[in-house]
Amino acid sequence: MGSCRKQNARSNVDVFGARRDGNSIVFEGAITKEGEDALRKSRINFNIKADFIPGYNKTIDINTTKPGIINGVITWNRVLLYEEIISYVRSLPSRSTKNRKITVKAIGKSYEKRPIYLVKIEHLGANHVVFFDAGIHAREWLSIMTAMNVIQRVLLADERDHVNLMNWYIVPMVNPDGFLYSQNNFSFHRGNKNFTGCPKWCKVCGVDLNRNFAFKWEKLEENLICSWVWPGRGPASEPETIALSNTLLKYSHNVILYIALHTYWCKFFYPWGYKQKKVKDYKDLIKAALNAAKPMSEVSVDPKTCTFAPEHAGQVTPSGGGADDFARAMAKVKYVYTLELQKSGLYGYHPYDHEVGPFVEANYEGLKKISIYVDSQYQKSSKKIVRDIHVKNVEVSRSTYVHRFSICLYFSLYIIAL
Ligand SMILES: [Zn+2]
Repeated sequence: MGSCRKQNARSNVDVFGARRDGNSIVFEGAITKEGEDALRKSRINFNIKADFIPGYNKTIDINTTKPGIINGVITWNRVLLYEEIISYVRSLPSRSTKNRKITVKAIGKSYEKRPIYLVKIEHLGANHVVFFDAGIHAREWLSIMTAMNVIQRVLLADERDHVNLMNWYIVPMVNPDGFLYSQNNFSFHRGNKNFTGCPKWCKVCGVDLNRNFAFKWEKLEENLICSWVWPGRGPASEPETIALSNTLLKYSHNVILYIALHTYWCKFFYPWGYKQKKVKDYKDLIKAALNAAKPMSEVSVDPKTCTFAPEHAGQVTPSGGGADDFARAMAKVKYVYTLELQKSGLYGYHPYDHEVGPFVEANYEGLKKISIYVDSQYQKSSKKIVRDIHVKNVEVSRSTYVHRFSICLYFSLYIIAL
């Protein structure tokens, strides 16, 4: 296999990264019409997957003339900036009451030494924990906003609301370095900021943290480091992965539901993700997820296709080292999902201002419903629900998936091995 290299700057093909897929090498990048024509004239056997993002190299403008937070309340007039999230999260403990204790703790530090915060909202007498995390993939802004809205809505809930019978543990930004980089530099950035050994021409450096967990981790050869799904050089090699893994293990005895928030497939993915075999109790997981699907699907760009239907992760794109499989196999949580939220904005990842409020509100309603359902299952069960201890599965590489656009630019080019 030859190594991939960036073509000359004025060329019509711009390679972001490359990875192996079966007998093919997948090049991820951008191509113009002229570039596509040139390839067709060549002797290279290829297949363009037709995922185009025009303007991939531009940053997304955030209209900061609109306030993101007013008097401690998130307005949802737009997405929040990194600094606003940190400031809001740090202020939360002061909102504790006699019935509700709010703790904010750094569970670790990122590659660039930024704190990774866990927000614990614990209610008097509650025992069960629902655990959500977001932003493990840097560009998936709606996941972070959704996690922030869960925090806000639980705090604002009426005291008779069922949400007060549970404890809510939320890591709103697993990958702070990546999120900041996505907001300020390259909006499509996905991994963390560990660019060690990544060539200068590569636009997609960084470890895909959702391929880095120490369960069924899959090695990728060093010459494929320039890839959206680079899993790192070993299982749990990254500080962000270690922080989340340790936290899941630490609280596993009380966690009844774990949801990793992502965008933008509009699906509830259930384990296993690392192989094409479902967990034994998958029907329980489907039943629980259906509670959330309706309120969430009512608000979306395309309600017909964005249904939040439960689906088996391993059937879509089996891949190892995911957080969901880790939570299931190692932390022994029964109800585990990777929840792919709505597609938003021009390219799927960066919501327009008018989308933010409706989407995060719909997502809260869905997450609340599934949490109450799962809590009720445990409450009414006289004996502990048996947790599946079998091997687990993982989320899929939903990242190279981008939507089609007419004039060219972002593509996956399959070149059959020469
Ligand atoms: Zn993701």
